[in-house]
Amino acid sequence: MSTPYLEVRGLRAAYGDIQVLHGIDFTVAEGQIAVILGANGAGKTTTLRALCAMVATEGSIKLAGEEIGRRPTADIVRRGVAHVPQGRGTFPELSVEENLQAGGFVRTDGEVRADIDRWYGLFPVLGERRRQAAGSLSGGEQQMLAIARALMLRPTLLLLDEPSLGLAPMITRELFDHLTVINAESGTTMLVVEQNASLALSMADQAYVLEAGEVALSGAAEELVADDNVRRAYLGY
Ligand code: ATP
Repeated sequence: MSTPYLEVRGLRAAYGDIQVLHGIDFTVAEGQIAVILGANGAGKTTTLRALCAMVATEGSIKLAGEEIGRRPTADIVRRGVAHVPQGRGTFPELSVEENLQAGGFVRTDGEVRADIDRWYGLFPVLGERRRQAAGSLSGGEQQMLAIARALMLRPTLLLLDEPSLGLAPMITRELFDHLTVINAESGTTMLVVEQNASLALSMADQAYVLEAGEVALSGAAEELVADDNVRRAYLGY
């Protein structure tokens, strides 16, 4: 087992009086892809929000061994955590290119232009539509832009909330292929929340199943695929 890049212990999260996460533990090894599965309302989105300090939390969140729990969101972003929220997360009034430039705003390395061209290479449709307002792109194109925009940060940890939401199966497959390439080429650690369990498990190294704000099951993705309960509840066979 490689070193955990993200190590979460006893994570609790609440919206006001409503406790949603009841002390969950999980880790994601450096350079690996982990997936969080679970029924609607299990707390998957809240888990990603908790990692970015977008909801009140208790417990420990360590990134590369350093405690980041309850640091300001901007601080967490500066440490290389990029979040692609459910429902895309682009600036609809800005063009595709302006969205990508905005994604690289904290960088001072002079390679922002080269990275924009790299993501145009991976997602050619974004290059073709570089001057088009993000809000006028199709759902699939917006999802690609949201991911490319997050990658402009050169994240060490990419958090993806339901990347397949609203996408046709073929586009989803293509998107997941791209994510696998990015993971392999850049070594970006990824934590993915996904309803499409079979696709997510096929891409992931590690998987966690959340039930009512607790980790009900965890293991290597290939082991969970073979688990009868997981198959019945999430894979439908
Ligand atoms: P889904 O698959 O339906 O997106 P999820 O597992 O991502 O579900 P969350 O969005 O994390 O679930 O929600 C967990 C619980 O927290 C739900 O009961 C939800 O109603 C509640 N919740 C989420 N956001 C808020 C909020 N802003 N205020 C109050 N309760 C909230």
